[in-house]
Amino acid sequence: MSRRAVVVGAGLAGMLAAAVLADAGVEEVVVLDRDELPDGPRQRRGLPQGRHAHLLMPGGLTAMEELVPGVSLRKRLLAAGAHEISLSSGMLAHTSEGWLRRWRREGPVMLTCTRALVDWTVRAAVLEHTGVEVRRAAAVGLTGSAGRVRGVRVSGPDGETDLAADLVVDASGRGTRIVSWLEGLGLSGVRTRTVDSGLVNASRVYRVPAGAERFPLTIVQADPYVSRPGRSAMVMPVEGDRWLVSCGGTRGGEPPADPEGFLRYTLDLPDPIVGRLISGAEPLTDVHLSRSTSNVRHYLDKAPHWPEGLVVLGDALGTFNPAYGQGMSVAAFGARVLGRELDRATGLDAPGLARRVLRGAARTVDAAWAMAVGQDVLYPGTRGGGRPGIADRAVTAYTRRMTRAATSSYAAASAIWDVTSMRTPPTRMFHPAAVLAALTGPPLPLLTGPPLTPGEREVLAGLDRTGV
Ligand SMILES: Cc1cc2nc3c(=O)[nH]c(=O)nc-3n(C[C@H](O)[C@H](O)[C@H](O)COP(=O)(O)OP(=O)(O)OC[C@H]3O[C@@H](n4cnc5c(N)ncnc54)[C@H](O)[C@@H]3O)c2cc1C
Repeated sequence: MSRRAVVVGAGLAGMLAAAVLADAGVEEVVVLDRDELPDGPRQRRGLPQGRHAHLLMPGGLTAMEELVPGVSLRKRLLAAGAHEISLSSGMLAHTSEGWLRRWRREGPVMLTCTRALVDWTVRAAVLEHTGVEVRRAAAVGLTGSAGRVRGVRVSGPDGETDLAADLVVDASGRGTRIVSWLEGLGLSGVRTRTVDSGLVNASRVYRVPAGAERFPLTIVQADPYVSRPGRSAMVMPVEGDRWLVSCGGTRGGEPPADPEGFLRYTLDLPDPIVGRLISGAEPLTDVHLSRSTSNVRHYLDKAPHWPEGLVVLGDALGTFNPAYGQGMSVAAFGARVLGRELDRATGLDAPGLARRVLRGAARTVDAAWAMAVGQDVLYPGTRGGGRPGIADRAVTAYTRRMTRAATSSYAAASAIWDVTSMRTPPTRMFHPAAVLAALTGPPLPLLTGPPLTPGEREVLAGLDRTGV
């Protein structure tokens, strides 16, 4: 392996791709980012989503650890204050079908911390262990031809210059200009699909109240089955003894940015637990809103012609409703595909390399897309989804049954954790024990309130200033 690769974007997809390229022996790996990258876990302009809750699923973390060898990202994140949350026992989750029970048996464990901490930890580890160089610059186009990309056009203080590369990786995230960049090379015909539920996210950071340090992550999920806008809220512990509280609402059910409205929104959910928890907690920030959360898939992998020397990963390939916490893991899976294909290739210029990476990465995007879009199309006012077909309706009915069974069936609950933790593909939902559980339904009556321990009940009562 030899020569130069240029990666556009120093987010997760970009830094993980850079690690993989360096590990494959590429002589020079240059990562461009238009943002000033902070030397610590701090929020930055280029990552507006970083203000909102990000769950790091075990499947994604495992992939990241494989891609950045020699460092335990998990240990570094935990040392910096991240929390380990067991999906089986460490959460209070109110689903569309009611409260899930908590199990003594250990399930998959996810990490919670700020997105800024994940990004900084990964970036620092990659820069420590490789010769990857990060430059502050904005990419504004591609150079080369429709047959082969030869580099990136870069905008800097002295105007535009060309940076030659044997391989370009576009990891510039949701705002990618890849479709128009390809048109600049004379390549058209890329189909883009947008499914927009009008989702708005609103988040605020609180100090964890004294005594509530061990209170479980708490989530009230949206209900897509009732022909009403989806509304959800989550209290997620992050580093620095803080709670990051994020609400999400689809068109017609958007959370507001004013503090009183934010609290009221959480109290009006099917269970008021999030509002009760934060009603007496000290806020540390304003409420921050984000609106750009539609599902967007650029079908680059299906383009009639694809140039050699160009790969697209992470959100630049597809983004989806964040409710399932999949995007960071999908970014890592895409970089893993790049690594596998580089291992098999004779060099960066191996014929067909770029297209093989793109197709492999697209498969991981599609699995996440199906899960997110399958639910989003059910919300009123969703644009671009089309009417669900018979197959969609069958999957929806099955998922709903499975969720209902999971309120008290271990077989059903563990199938759901395995898929949402991104350790196994969605086909796990069709293992015989899971199918049987879905068909049989919940073995126990639905819980009428959250499954709290006596200690947690006391903490909640002590925090509650709402009188609900
Ligand atoms: C509200 C919300 C909540 C989410 N929650 C979760 C969650 O719980 N779990 C989860 O796994 N995922 C979650 N996600 C998804 C996750 O944020 C993304 O999937 C992930 O950030 C994708 O990483 P990326 O590297 O592809 O893009 P990004 O992280 O967006 O990085 C793109 C980078 O490219 C840079 N850039 C852009 N354009 C240029 C250019 N022209 N030149 C140079 N640099 C450029 C930007 O500055 C940025 O650094 C959530 C998303 C949102 C919106």
